[in-house]
Amino acid sequence: MNNPKIPHKELVADWQALMRTFIRPEDVAAKTTLLKYMEQILFGLHDFLNTHVGITEEVSLKELSDQYTDTLISENPEEKLAAVISNIIEKTAPNAVNVASPYFTGHMTSAIPFFMVHLKTITAALNQNVVKLETSKILSIIEKQVLAKIHRVIFKKSEDFYLEHVQNSRTSLGGFTENGTLANLTALWIARNTQLGPKEGFEGVDKEGIFAAFKAYGIEQSVILVSELGHFSLKKAGGLLGIGNNNIISIGLDSSNRIDIAKLKEKINEIKNSVHKIKILAIIGIAGTTETGTIDPLRQLGEICSENNVHFHVDAAWGGPVLLSKKYKHLLDGIELADSVTIDGHKQFYMPMSSGMVYFKDPCLMDSITYHANYVNRRGSVDLGIKSLSGSREANSLVLDSALKIMGSKGYALLIEHGIETAKDFADEINNRPDFELITMPVLNILTYRIFPKELRLQWNESEEVQRKINEKLNEINIIIQRLQREAGNSFVSRTTLKAHKECCENIVVLRCVIMNPMTNINILREILDEQEEIYKKTL
Ligand SMILES: *Cc1c(COP(=O)(O)O)cnc(C)c1O
Repeated sequence: MNNPKIPHKELVADWQALMRTFIRPEDVAAKTTLLKYMEQILFGLHDFLNTHVGITEEVSLKELSDQYTDTLISENPEEKLAAVISNIIEKTAPNAVNVASPYFTGHMTSAIPFFMVHLKTITAALNQNVVKLETSKILSIIEKQVLAKIHRVIFKKSEDFYLEHVQNSRTSLGGFTENGTLANLTALWIARNTQLGPKEGFEGVDKEGIFAAFKAYGIEQSVILVSELGHFSLKKAGGLLGIGNNNIISIGLDSSNRIDIAKLKEKINEIKNSVHKIKILAIIGIAGTTETGTIDPLRQLGEICSENNVHFHVDAAWGGPVLLSKKYKHLLDGIELADSVTIDGHKQFYMPMSSGMVYFKDPCLMDSITYHANYVNRRGSVDLGIKSLSGSREANSLVLDSALKIMGSKGYALLIEHGIETAKDFADEINNRPDFELITMPVLNILTYRIFPKELRLQWNESEEVQRKINEKLNEINIIIQRLQREAGNSFVSRTTLKAHKECCENIVVLRCVIMNPMTNINILREILDEQEEIYKKTL
């Protein structure tokens, strides 16, 4: 805040005060104080999350950023814990985004079950570091168990397979990462290392680098193929891994926004017959694209990968947990053919920010990213940090393992099914309204649509020129409405740009709705459409 720092008279940074913050609450008074703080956090925020239906308070970013220009650390303490907590609850939280509101339907970030806060508090209190056993012990063991549970949902191997690998210190069924981006990076790192692995006279790409690898393999370029709807984390991986992000090649879509298999095969042939020597390191299937929630034909992709000896990665950051629904798991048919799979914990596992996971069908695949250090992760130890991009890492497995116990696969299935079915109802509602157009039919719980007012619809005809003009107008309208609705602060849908399929290949602006909050129901979604209609009528 802008006010000059007036050091609080009683507050001094001395050894005695410092020690008090580290000592555990041994007497009753100390315990009571700490309990009071926890209560303040849980109920203070709980009230905020319940009462603030709006997305944010109506304070502009400019006003807020003007209040946060203080760049000096004060020498003595400014505030006590109680005051800090009160300040956060009263001043900070109301200006954060209430992602828990059922009217907040624009992003993959939403309400979480309240027990997640308790579980997260436990991991903070234990402060385990799963980089190695010496700082985590049982938490490393729990991580291996929960990884095996999810691996089993994806790959459905035999009981014997899991008995052999669940606690095997030499093999890994996967790993936790900080998010989906690092899970994808880990998967592609391993794909690169195995596709350009050690051979006669060559120690492998991870040791010798990409230039030496290209020489050893007699190639000039390596590529990864994914649909146009690939997440931008894949491009980052292309950059980081020395593949070059131009070489993360986009394949066109079919009419249902899935990777076009014919175009993919064409591309593979073109690469094989090219005068340049090009190696395909991986083909990626998306199970729940970020923009439209669609699922690529995983079985077909898996078959193409095995015919061509290419690593098959499935980015199921969003859609992975759908496997827990008996009713809808068939949508991910073929995922078991994947060599690696990304799933985010903070998306449809409803874990607090942030948690990702990556799984490998072959429990030895992670060997290609083995790293040791004498001060940590010595050879022969079972430390999880030996095969992990991250070093220090929190024990997120405890949160997931506990959540799975509390919810059961059926609890998660109920959430997943609610999202998918509400999205279908919402699509019907959009189709029934003359001023809206459904753009992508939901496969999972994500759909896109746009406002397409009757008066413009009447002008629509076969002429490409007319269509282009109307699309341009609609783009403007949809951008404005999305912004005004967000600024009004009652509800929120997001916005993205997709290629139009029905018409010529233009970009059209669409509104995007993600239904993952179990409190978001069709009535709320109708209200959101009503509000958009109203904004249109009032302002345009
Ligand atoms: C969210 C998402 C990612 C990236 O995950 P982060 O956790 O945001 O890093 C990757 N792929 C898909 C399909 C996603 O939806």
